Amino acid sequence: MVGRKKKGRLGNLWTGLALIAVVLLWTAPAVGPGMIAIVSAFLVLYCLFLAPTWCCATTRKNDFCRNNASGILLGCHLQQHKWQKLKMAFLQQRPVEALRRMLSNMSGIATSLSAAAGTVSAGVATVTLLTR
Ligand SMILES: [Zn+2]
Repeated sequence: MVGRKKKGRLGNLWTGLALIAVVLLWTAPAVGPGMIAIVSAFLVLYCLFLAPTWCCATTRKNDFCRNNASGILLGCHLQQHKWQKLKMAFLQQRPVEALRRMLSNMSGIATSLSAAAGTVSAGVATVTLLTR
């Protein structure tokens, strides 16, 4: 259990570092928007599929699943939770409730913020690239 906890903390560190890296890229004049777009896209993908966070799927007791999961879009080791989360994101059109659940824990907040920042950063970089 201690090992898993440590891994989770290290994962949060990486999420934070990736976010800082994207911010630093924007302040470095030598880095072009193409590079920023690529790094931002990687940050978003990392948050969606790899970043350590809680599963947050609904359990049979109508509670949030507190198992460790990888990324915002993927659930924990329970197959049913994986489907439930993907369905929530794409089929049931309930992104607000999915977001509210993600924001109910610290690692979820860090991951969601990084994903949002990465999305904005990638979007702005792409627009900059296209309008130049
Ligand atoms: Zn779960």
